[in-house]
Amino acid sequence: MIIEVDKESGFCPGVVSAIRKAEVELQTRQTLYCLGDIVHNSQEVQRLQEQGLTTIDHDQLSQLHDTKVLLRAHGEPPSTYRMAQQNNVTIIDATCPVVLQLQKKIRRMYVSEPKSQIVIYGKQGHAEVNGLVGQTDGTAIVVESEADLDKIDYSCPVRLFSQTTMSVDHFRKLIETMNRRMCDGADFQSFDTICRQVANRIPHMLEFARKHDVVLFVSGKKSSNGKALFEVCQSANPRSWFVSSPQDVDAAMIAGAESIGICGATSTPKWQMEQVATMLEGRVQ
Ligand code: SF4
Repeated sequence: MIIEVDKESGFCPGVVSAIRKAEVELQTRQTLYCLGDIVHNSQEVQRLQEQGLTTIDHDQLSQLHDTKVLLRAHGEPPSTYRMAQQNNVTIIDATCPVVLQLQKKIRRMYVSEPKSQIVIYGKQGHAEVNGLVGQTDGTAIVVESEADLDKIDYSCPVRLFSQTTMSVDHFRKLIETMNRRMCDGADFQSFDTICRQVANRIPHMLEFARKHDVVLFVSGKKSSNGKALFEVCQSANPRSWFVSSPQDVDAAMIAGAESIGICGATSTPKWQMEQVATMLEGRVQ
């Protein structure tokens, strides 16, 4: 049986950098707080927890004083930085540079065009989206699907941005629909702010999924890009399975397969895909 781990799957640069920052800091201190899960992968979170990384939420941050807190790649709204400053908390900022640029772009737009509606295509409540909405003092309109488009006033100027991990195709469709709905004389501008770390993996992933009898897609259940990339695999190969650990793989999934491809999300560590491969190799021996 052929078992192949996809070389192009695994952490994106934003996640690699955040984890590296945490590991460097943990070499000199026993505990480091991280605001939210450092990555949407519970096993990687657990691995770092064993080294001293402690996940906290915003309520817990408000109670902390005189310590260090790491901000993960998703970024945070300005209110988080203010709270840290008030509590004498030192921030280790691991916000991905791509997200940071997007935050700045939205802030500049919000300040320079007070009459425009800032619309963000993204997942309501997602940490990155909260950080983006925070740049507009909470006024941006979040659009997750076409059903949310009624929240927009099409007689006023609209500036559309996207969360970095959304689908490029859906974003384009949304632009078409919004363009049609705009009233005469109202200005609409869209900015494609989708990170190509996810989108650029799609053609390769389609090819990878097609060449194997079965695909095991390894990802944490909370990962947005994990869900999106798994759908890509499924569209190319109906025998694609979403697994989070070797224990999730059962005999029926791989029955009769002569070649199995193992791939994952931008939040999936390489070691986790290798673990699934090692388990399979053990089974076929
Ligand atoms: S997917 Fe892109 S924007 Fe998001 S953390 Fe990775 S590199 Fe940064």
